Amino acid sequence: SEEKSLNFLEEIVEEDLAAGKHGGRVLTRFPPEPNGYLHIGHAKSICLNFGLAQRYGGKTNLRFDDTNPVKEDVEYVDSIKEDVKWLGFDWAQELYASDYFDKLYEFALTLIKKGLAYVDDSTAEEIAAQKGTPTEPGTGNEYRNRSIEENLQLFADMKAGKYPDGAKVLRAKLDLASSNMHLRDPLMYRIKHAHHHRTGDAWCIYPMYDFAHGQSDAIEEITHSICTVEFIPHRPLYEWFIEQLELFPSKQYEFARLNLNYTVMSKRKLLQLVTEGHVEGWDDPRMPTISGLRRRGYTPASIREFCERIGVAKRENMIDVGLLEFCIREDLNKKAWRRMAVLDPVKLVIDNYPEGKTEYFSGENNPEAEDGDGSREFPFGREIWIEREDFMEVPAKKYFRLSIGGMVRLKNAYIIKGESVVKDAEGNITEIHCSYLPESKSGNDTSGLTVKGTIHWVSVEHAKTAEVRLYDRLFQVEDPSNEDGDFKDYINPNSLHIISPAYIEPDLANAIAGVPVQFMRKGYFVLDKDSTVDKLVFNRTVTLKDGWVK
Ligand code: ATP
Ligand code: MG
Ligand code: MG
Repeated sequence: SEEKSLNFLEEIVEEDLAAGKHGGRVLTRFPPEPNGYLHIGHAKSICLNFGLAQRYGGKTNLRFDDTNPVKEDVEYVDSIKEDVKWLGFDWAQELYASDYFDKLYEFALTLIKKGLAYVDDSTAEEIAAQKGTPTEPGTGNEYRNRSIEENLQLFADMKAGKYPDGAKVLRAKLDLASSNMHLRDPLMYRIKHAHHHRTGDAWCIYPMYDFAHGQSDAIEEITHSICTVEFIPHRPLYEWFIEQLELFPSKQYEFARLNLNYTVMSKRKLLQLVTEGHVEGWDDPRMPTISGLRRRGYTPASIREFCERIGVAKRENMIDVGLLEFCIREDLNKKAWRRMAVLDPVKLVIDNYPEGKTEYFSGENNPEAEDGDGSREFPFGREIWIEREDFMEVPAKKYFRLSIGGMVRLKNAYIIKGESVVKDAEGNITEIHCSYLPESKSGNDTSGLTVKGTIHWVSVEHAKTAEVRLYDRLFQVEDPSNEDGDFKDYINPNSLHIISPAYIEPDLANAIAGVPVQFMRKGYFVLDKDSTVDKLVFNRTVTLKDGWVK
């Protein structure tokens, strides 16, 4: 068997286990801020945190990092829980950083009493200016020398709501000369008279990320706190607070965030796409969100496989969306039943086939599966729909589909030969006339002929109709966030193509929500949530890499 080498986080956990750290316990957490829907980047973090714990017999907490009341909402909390579950993971505990507000306040008092925190009346601009530059130390100000008593009183007054937003902040008294700007007396608390989705109006001061995250980890006794590389410079602060407060020694480790081309991944940008109407919503099938991918027809297994394949690195890079598409094709090729649907229909009449006659043919559900996963029947008659592109009046070189005088096999049915066409006033073909070879029936062919092309078709008399939505990339450039101007300038205006009506074989009317299906030669599809019994709507998940006929 093939042993995969350990990634660097697995190595760290194995070393810790070997050294008997934390009594052999592994507890990770996934800490989303409920200010948007989860995206494929979060999926990587989820797979990493839950996967690591699973591998070493540990557990994972789901902790909502809800310390910023302004942008957070229960709608996001609910969607996040749904998405994590859908990806196939179970958390040990559902927790909220806001549940720690009392404890965090106590921690702040402890630091004030140790002379390690002070209330600063400066404006944000003044604080930024006094922080110095990477090459010059900060200057500080007179507030830094406030007495412990005064700080305790002012901080209590901040909490009591005596001051407006921005009037004061609580800062750590740390090191204004540190080469790490994050250590130059970082903010711990700010005043925000805002309603919080869980704590309501109980608080008007809210802790900053740096003062909330590490302590929340420590309160839960998280053993391995995994975050993305932009938090490397925050790590000394993470450790300093834990040390000064003598808390459980959670440790922070950083990995490279996932970047995917032809999309954006920041929640701020995704929110703009939603609120400005560039997409239908957070779950628009073009969005890189988990809910968008789900609606598009991606499976949890394909997303987990994608996260496994990209691996865990320390340096950021750009992953090609083609890899994600590869993973869903691999998965659906094994699972999806094959059906026939004509997306760009033109009518074909078989002149020598008896009028009014119906024959039933049968085809395997999935030739990739054992025993074809069973089969279904579909009707055949004198008039059928075929794809416009499967006919060329005068065939080009190496065109092996239907043409005048040329022969092709109708999938699971007969060989036909092109005879003539009917055109409208503009010269567009409105009908193709053919003859068929009765002795060429699929599975029972005594014609002795071999034809190079096989095309799909649907009986005109029996076809059902559907709306079919084809998607392209949401952006025209690989990295829209790194181009001149606004990222929205690079939106692909043709990212959605709606076909209505498409003609589908009757059995497709039985399609089940969430169950993928392959439209032969056209790709993998899934019912959209807009679908009703009266109006079926299918989304294309992804094209087939190769159709089975060229
Ligand atoms: P955004 O910039 O989209 O708002 P965020 O990091 O602020 O992302 P959080 O809700 O705080 O979003 O993220 C929860 C967890 O998911 C964090 O641990 C974060 O590091 C991780 N995460 C977010 N985006 C990515 C990504 N692109 N790749 C890997 N992990 C990510
Ligand atoms: Mg965050
Ligand atoms: Mg964020």
